[in-house]
Amino acid sequence: MQKLTQIKTQLLNMHAEAVLRQLHEFHFVDPVHVCIKNEKYLLMASNNYLGLTHHPAVKAAAAAAIEEYGTGSGGSRLTSGNHPLYGRLEKDIARFKQTEAALIFNSGYMSNIGVISALANTAADVIFSDALNHASIIDGCRLARAKTVIYPHNNMVALAELLKNTPCSGQRFIITDGVFSMDGDIACLEKIVYLAGKYDGFVIVDDAHATGVIGSGGRGSAAYYGLSGRVHLELGTLSKALASEGGFAAGSQLVINYLINKARSFIFSTALSPATLAAASAALQILLTEPYRVERLALKAAAMKDKLRLAGVPLLKSETPIIPILIGAASQAMDFTEKLYAEKLIVSAIRPPTVPVGSSRLRLTMTGAHSAADIDKASAIIIHTAIKMGRVKPFA
Ligand code: PMP
Repeated sequence: MQKLTQIKTQLLNMHAEAVLRQLHEFHFVDPVHVCIKNEKYLLMASNNYLGLTHHPAVKAAAAAAIEEYGTGSGGSRLTSGNHPLYGRLEKDIARFKQTEAALIFNSGYMSNIGVISALANTAADVIFSDALNHASIIDGCRLARAKTVIYPHNNMVALAELLKNTPCSGQRFIITDGVFSMDGDIACLEKIVYLAGKYDGFVIVDDAHATGVIGSGGRGSAAYYGLSGRVHLELGTLSKALASEGGFAAGSQLVINYLINKARSFIFSTALSPATLAAASAALQILLTEPYRVERLALKAAAMKDKLRLAGVPLLKSETPIIPILIGAASQAMDFTEKLYAEKLIVSAIRPPTVPVGSSRLRLTMTGAHSAADIDKASAIIIHTAIKMGRVKPFA
């Protein structure tokens, strides 16, 4: 069959270009160690930023929710699946983000596609989207009926020009990641909010990697810039620092009421399980009562970056626990991670199409659960491997 032949050729080509993906099974021992074929590996590739997936209070909350409400929700939010844990967590998220209201979706991916397609829903609207925005924003823009204009990454001069010169008879939207997932840098939100004011733009920030990570108490990128309440919609996920699954949108009650009625990924999917929401709720309570965890994460990330940078490992300029080591060719990035894997260290190789061709990289993510010994061990392995592979650029 023609289609199957095409598929086979495509997969073979991807294999030859070192961009073929495969699934690997990870058995978690704790937030930063996994067991594979009875061998223990140190993991620096997880978005479990605060290491709360194994916190006793988070696990106990999930278990208690199963006991009380059962396993599945059994229906969408607008039919029979809206169990009491939803309202409680949405109120807590809104208070945490200092917005009027919040709405939980089934994942961060689903929040992005649902929100963008529901809001930017006429051909007269224009979306201005950062070139390095996450795939789920890109897919949201594809589903939206608006025209999408991509601006060069974090380039506010270019954004200003595009806002000025792109005809728009409807609503302008500016959409950006708060923390960029593959580079670890932070959006220029101050300038974006200023430009949005000038051009009556609606600002949407995806704080998937910012929530629990930057800003006062981990409140995200708006809080980081002292702009809480000045961003029209803050999106996020429960699957990274909040140790569970699900996504959310936080903003005005008006917009949330609209999303309940119009966001198709919200309306037409079964609600999350009680255990999932209970775990996220418990993780958020820990974040609220123990905000030092956010600072501790930043200190650990800084310690790791300092060690690698001082040894001359080529880091991209990240301001967060996402630490990209620029390699270039996909095959070399794969080769590097395989060598680290042989040393029992797991780090992601990020390759096209996730990043542009020629900018494949290793992507380390630090969590609050990594110990000083983990940092010493991982940095020594990476530096040693980088030297052997001729990747270290000593300071001139
Ligand atoms: N936005 C960004 C910036 C992300 O990095 C991710 C996940 N990697 C998502 C959205 C999707 O979130 P989720 O995994 O909860 O679907």
